[in-house]
Amino acid sequence: MVAAGSLGDAIDATPWVDTHEHLVEERSRLAPGGAVATGPEGTATAVPGDWSALLVDYAIHDLVCAGMPAQDAAMALGPELGPLEKWRLVEPWFAGARNTGHLRAADLSAERLCGAALGPDTCEEIDRRLRELRDEGYYAHVLRDAGVARCQVNSLEEDPFCETASPGLLDQDLSLVPLALGRHPRAEELSGIEVGDLADYLAVVDWCFETYAHRAVAAKCLWAYLRPLAAGPCGDAPDLAFRRLRRGEADAGERRQVEDFLLGRCLDLAADAGLPVKVHLGTLAGVDHPRLRDVFAHVAHITGLVQRHRSTTFVLMHMAWPQQEQLLALAKHQPNVVVDLCWAWSLAPRSTADFVQRFLTTAPATKLLCFGGDSVAVESVPGHAELARRGLQAALEGLVEQRWLRPDEALELVPLLMHGNAERVLPARVNTEQEALTP
Ligand SMILES: [Zn+2]
Repeated sequence: MVAAGSLGDAIDATPWVDTHEHLVEERSRLAPGGAVATGPEGTATAVPGDWSALLVDYAIHDLVCAGMPAQDAAMALGPELGPLEKWRLVEPWFAGARNTGHLRAADLSAERLCGAALGPDTCEEIDRRLRELRDEGYYAHVLRDAGVARCQVNSLEEDPFCETASPGLLDQDLSLVPLALGRHPRAEELSGIEVGDLADYLAVVDWCFETYAHRAVAAKCLWAYLRPLAAGPCGDAPDLAFRRLRRGEADAGERRQVEDFLLGRCLDLAADAGLPVKVHLGTLAGVDHPRLRDVFAHVAHITGLVQRHRSTTFVLMHMAWPQQEQLLALAKHQPNVVVDLCWAWSLAPRSTADFVQRFLTTAPATKLLCFGGDSVAVESVPGHAELARRGLQAALEGLVEQRWLRPDEALELVPLLMHGNAERVLPARVNTEQEALTP
């Protein structure tokens, strides 16, 4: 048998490579106006400067789902109210939602960073401690506390690529949306290419890959928030549809034709650059999202794309929850598919622990990435990382109890699942020597 605590000890002593966050830059959090993250639909969210930074990454959505009015949620994250007033606002909904992974992650972060769980008697002290924490270099401190050695960021602050001030700590994704939508004012401006026709726009896309791909850790496609995932085969260049799109005259079919063509080009460029492509699969952040119905077809819809682009490595994210069993079948079948559990441990903790057991007994262990917090606020990472550690421990201990793994085999999987697979599939592209951390 595994000696008491040895799997837990090994997991606690092993650093994560965190494969997915949306962290805004530390300099933005420290700036007087604070940081703003803009989602794929164009909605801007200010990252709170007080204790409600612990709520902004998803706990707030569970509170709204429990019945909290949207305007109260906005006040709870906004700058007007004091720490206790904010607590009074969330309190009626907090108890009912407290068992969810999102709220548990917020509580665990508060405990790790401030020594107390959220509550009426602790929120002012937690608020004070979090404000004190926010000083130059605090990202490195918080991530080290979370046991995170490196962190891969899909910036919601700068698109298509964030020139981070911490390249040895925060690896960056090259963003494919809005690039693959046929209109990207910032990329067009940066490239200096004036776009008249599709050939010009393809030159902008090429420029983005030439300029950023060798420094990016992955390309990231977030278009699940904007459209169904299915993309048709790329035929002839859709010149006419592109011109109509640029004039604002394209219908839905023409827009899809342009987007499918551009994404196909991006997938080929990513393959040429040896850059894996991360794709958001599964449920969407927030409540009442108009594209939620597409979520239940994501795995079927991505399959055609995966099979047409066999030279591209697809990192399929979020366990595709609630389609994880279909995702497992896809991962078992396609050599070019890797599964990423980012966000999943706080989204659906029990499903994720169960999935780890199913994955390890069905598909090669080398194709599983086990942690990303999906957060804009660095304060959210420690709690989520702790949830993931305990979930991974429960999954491996379960396989030992079921005699599927010997204790030594379970221990051998720990470094592979916590950082080895990520280092092999998504190697850092920058010089890591000055800033790399040893948790
Ligand atoms: Zn994300």
